[in-house]
Amino acid sequence: MTDHPNFVEIRHAQKSFGTVEVLKDISLTVERGQIVGIIGSSGSGKSTLLRAINDLDPLTGGEVWLDGVQVNQKLPHRQYEKHINQMRQQVGMVFQHFNLFPHMTARENVTMAPMMLHGLSKEEADKLAEEQLDHVGLLERIDYYPSQLSGGQKQRVAIARALAMKPKLMLFDEATSALDPELVEEVNQVMRKLAQEQMTMIIVTHEMDFAASVCDRVLFMDQGVVVEEGPPEILFKNPTKDRTRAFLRKHL
Ligand code: ADP
Ligand code: MG
Repeated sequence: MTDHPNFVEIRHAQKSFGTVEVLKDISLTVERGQIVGIIGSSGSGKSTLLRAINDLDPLTGGEVWLDGVQVNQKLPHRQYEKHINQMRQQVGMVFQHFNLFPHMTARENVTMAPMMLHGLSKEEADKLAEEQLDHVGLLERIDYYPSQLSGGQKQRVAIARALAMKPKLMLFDEATSALDPELVEEVNQVMRKLAQEQMTMIIVTHEMDFAASVCDRVLFMDQGVVVEEGPPEILFKNPTKDRTRAFLRKHL
């Protein structure tokens, strides 16, 4: 596979819901192995942008590219379904609310997609689940149901489940914001570990300290635009725009 320096490329993303424009000409590139943070007030368009990357919220204008392939291609329906399934398998997503299957154990949550979509045997998938749950520190809970796990543990299973598909890119949308404060760090630790392993990640977060410590670059979004972006040590310490300063005053 060719190495595209712009591993993720968003070109002039525009998104309207009816007459409301929620993304206004956003361009963004992420290189392989980079970790990009997105911060901004509620309603600024962070989730919509993240969901546009695998075309869950299709853009009304602009392009999304992943590793040299355009994600939001206009294709006849059947071809589009095949294309988008292939693209989505390369992108792991973790949301605020752990969307684990409640009637399945941690193991079953992790093994399902690799068996169904990658054709792994039960034995292969079990081995993978053990590896991935070990990776997030939950091997001893492998046969627990979501109801028997804490919020932090559930979120770690959700990460293991995403990683079991061997994604090229991980998207995190406020993965810790529904957690009790004492459970946040265990999930952040897993993200830090992925960062050390050079996983390419886009992380929407309201935790400025975490963003500052893990991200190569941080974008501040407001009302559908990227107001300002830069390395965290610059964006957080010396923001140049009034809107960024006002936001950081409230959130730092
Ligand atoms: P954030 O994640 O930064 O809080 P969102 O991307 O969720 O922001 O939302 C951006 C804007 O788009 C908000 O004004 C929200 O109300 C609107 N929006 C999001 N999803 C929909 C939808 N499915 N239909 C209509 N409006 C939406
Ligand atoms: Mg959101």
